[in-house]
Amino acid sequence: LLMFCLAVLGRAEYLRYKDPAQPIGARVDDLLARMTLAEKIGQMTQIERENATAGVLSKYFIGSVLSGGGSVPSPQASAQAWVSMVNAMQKDALSTRLGIPMIYGIDAVHGHGNVYKATIFPHNVGLGATRDPELVRRIGEATALEVRATGIPYVFAPCIAVCRDPRWGRCYESYSEDPKVVQNMTTIISGLQGDAPSGFDGRPYVGGSKKVAACAKHYVGDGGTFTGINEGNTIIDERGLMKIHMPAYFNSIIRGVSTIMVSYNSWNGNKMHGNHFLITDFLKNKLKFRGFVISDWQGIDRITTPEHLNYSYSIEAGIGAGIDMIMVPFAYTEFIDGLTTKVKNNIIPMSRIDDAVYRILRVKFTMGLFENPYADPSLAGELGKQEHRELAREAVRKSLVLLKNGKSAYTPLLPLPKKVAKILVAGSNADNLGNQCGGWTITWQGLTGNNNTTGTTILSAIKSTVDPSTQVVFSENPDSATLSDKYDYAIVVVGEPPYAETFGDNLNLTIPAPGPSVIQNVCKSIKCVVVLVSGRPLVVEPHIGAIDAFVAAWLPGTEGQGVADVLFGDYGFSGKLARTWFKSVDQLPMNVGDKHYDPLFPFGFGLTTEAKK
Ligand code: BGC
Repeated sequence: LLMFCLAVLGRAEYLRYKDPAQPIGARVDDLLARMTLAEKIGQMTQIERENATAGVLSKYFIGSVLSGGGSVPSPQASAQAWVSMVNAMQKDALSTRLGIPMIYGIDAVHGHGNVYKATIFPHNVGLGATRDPELVRRIGEATALEVRATGIPYVFAPCIAVCRDPRWGRCYESYSEDPKVVQNMTTIISGLQGDAPSGFDGRPYVGGSKKVAACAKHYVGDGGTFTGINEGNTIIDERGLMKIHMPAYFNSIIRGVSTIMVSYNSWNGNKMHGNHFLITDFLKNKLKFRGFVISDWQGIDRITTPEHLNYSYSIEAGIGAGIDMIMVPFAYTEFIDGLTTKVKNNIIPMSRIDDAVYRILRVKFTMGLFENPYADPSLAGELGKQEHRELAREAVRKSLVLLKNGKSAYTPLLPLPKKVAKILVAGSNADNLGNQCGGWTITWQGLTGNNNTTGTTILSAIKSTVDPSTQVVFSENPDSATLSDKYDYAIVVVGEPPYAETFGDNLNLTIPAPGPSVIQNVCKSIKCVVVLVSGRPLVVEPHIGAIDAFVAAWLPGTEGQGVADVLFGDYGFSGKLARTWFKSVDQLPMNVGDKHYDPLFPFGFGLTTEAKK
């Protein structure tokens, strides 16, 4: 305090906005009154990491930088390399006349998936199956620490999409097809940001420098597009939109979510990025959301069609609809010039700009960025630390859903005995960390293979769990010679390779080859458990008769040990389907509560086993 008073006394002018003893509203008002139009528009501009080269942030008063799709300084960059990069950008931002800190944002959607050696938690589709909101809150807490350890204070998470059609390539980012399950999992926001005081009123809340600002996305109806087309059209009446896709936003706002990202999808043919009713009238005015609204990556560009791209109109429609910060990410001068012209020509009123900047600054003040703009060096050891890995392993255990156990109820196969003569492990997903992690890991597309980060594959977990005397034979696609041996049982781990938005949509939802033939060949001759590693239910109906036991493992992340924990009975199965398991894709979309509901396994289904003593 003394230092502060001295600093204040030493100044020619007392700057109220710099005084942490002042109420946040007063600080924002004071700062806003000092800002030029260029400084305001800069705050509304979020640019890509690669463009934030020395001097750019200060020159354009840029308010935010992002690592879009996990755009990383280098694939194996250390936490320290991230910290240096972000700190250097911050230094540039702070060198401006008013010294407003920039906020760096990143997609940490299942842990800090962008960073080598981070703890990767199960994707949301698996967390939904845990039905454990407290566990999800703790995951938020751990993720905040790992993200802050790299100097980053803002995450584009959680995705609170209610995925109604698993053909959508982002279905794994959704906790459930059921709005209630998604609502319950908004605890992640409290984990990421800290617990907002109860009775909160729509103001953003971030509890200090060990927490991060969160972003509920994608507003709204992203999970409801026709046939699950990414960025498609959500055809639904207002009542349906409010009942299915909106509820989790209510919970997010009550939890003090700092930001909300607008969705690429259209609602009944109109792009969300231009939807004044839903962004301004409903979200801001009716729900009283007081954080800031951010666009998606080039989201306003999509308001106009690629054939008739009219960026000037896009700016007008997007800002006019009520978006506060634009993820530009590349042509930022075009955006800045375009918006400046719109304001100067009175097409966009200054009150709209002030609303946007007020909200952005409020988040920055609330989270203490003015006082602590740089990385906290005491968090250096948080990235990928053992305690977080244990938490991820617990999440994996609880996310597994046992859908079949034995050809009859009297002949259960699971839990598997640890001490037998010989077992076979087969399938493309048994020894593949990249497949286990799925999309949004190191890159937005995800990466297959074992060299991209650190963790435990399901195969290595099996090996370290069985008795040392048990022989484990592994073959991705076993030939007849391998299969002619005698095995006590087989574990077949098949499923999807990583995928993400734009190339993850899939109309067939079959198990990728050679998965089906591996299942058929192995299960025909050996008692088998099939573990499916996938971001969504796949077509298993034709195979299920041949399989002795069937486990949905979703996209478990780096801690494959959690799968072995449950297969071998150190823990029991407890997960419940948060999605409907269809028989055939012809039935889609089919969700719990539908009139014609004829699933292979219904929403909520999941067998249990007891842990072995
Ligand atoms: C995705 C968002 C993501 C953003 C930044 C977009 O393509 O839709 O979910 O936060 O990129 O990477």
